Amino acid sequence: MTGFRPNLIPWELAVQIVCLDLEGVLVPEIWIEFAARTGIPELRLTTRDEPDYDKLMAYRLAILAANKLGLPDIQKVIAEMGPLAGARAFVDGLRADYQLIILSDTFYEFAHPLMRQLGWPTLFCHSLEADAAGRVVNYHLRMPDQKREAVRRLKELRFTVVAAGDSYNDTAMLAEAHAGILFHPPDNVIREFPQFPVTYSYADLRSELDKAFVAHALSA
Ligand SMILES: [Mg+2]
Repeated sequence: MTGFRPNLIPWELAVQIVCLDLEGVLVPEIWIEFAARTGIPELRLTTRDEPDYDKLMAYRLAILAANKLGLPDIQKVIAEMGPLAGARAFVDGLRADYQLIILSDTFYEFAHPLMRQLGWPTLFCHSLEADAAGRVVNYHLRMPDQKREAVRRLKELRFTVVAAGDSYNDTAMLAEAHAGILFHPPDNVIREFPQFPVTYSYADLRSELDKAFVAHALSA
């Protein structure tokens, strides 16, 4: 904006990072959509039904094995889901003006076909372990509470961070960021976290993100 180096990013924008949740914000809920597309209703179970995540994942992996669904089959189904309508344009627009990092509790192997359709934005999430035949045999979480930890560390690196997500598992990240925004949240999350603005379209989310960065810059 200074005019004498027009090809470079203005310094204010270079220190601004948007952290976005993936499922429910840019792509469908992967397990739920996968259950619908494969006709395996048992895969609809979530942490709401089975709060012990290890048990839930062991159950899911057993169901995938019983249905002879290996990683290539799973990725094919996920590729067909595609991102939510308008997500690619929203992501491209954000990346033109900010640095974008997607913080998700999904797995790289699941997200891969969707990230291709989103133009390969940066993604921090967990990993699956498959055997030579492509059968998923285990999963590996990067670290506990990685969404919040990532935001915390980005702040230590002196970035301004605004985060957006749709669900309970995002609220710690939203609270840790300089500002947090909800996107299409369920009613109970809205009631429990009235401090976060609520948005229902990419245009509204974008305008809340822009507003939050401006408000933070003015208060700094
Ligand atoms: Mg989500």
